Amino acid sequence: MYCQKCGNEVVGVAKFCSSCGDVVQESKTPTGLIAATWALFLGSYVPLLAIPASIGMLVTAIMLIRSGNRTGKINGIIALIILGIGFMIGFVIGFSATYGK
Ligand SMILES: [Zn+2]
Repeated sequence: MYCQKCGNEVVGVAKFCSSCGDVVQESKTPTGLIAATWALFLGSYVPLLAIPASIGMLVTAIMLIRSGNRTGKINGIIALIILGIGFMIGFVIGFSATYGK
């Protein structure tokens, strides 16, 4: 990770740049949301992958929520909500495919 202000490399989980003292921003990409969207997609359309994808997403979401980081917590909670929606869509599709005729 590099300081956005001065370009100094910031090692590990440091919150402040050792060169200029500026607060080091986390990556802007909400990885939790991307993973959750994938879990939703996989859970809805690829039933065989739904279980491992959902478990992986659930673990990621819990880790995000427990990270103690405000952005991580929000991402984790949104990820859980999207995961829940994915489960419901997958369940409805599976149910209607099995009993809907
Ligand atoms: Zn800096």
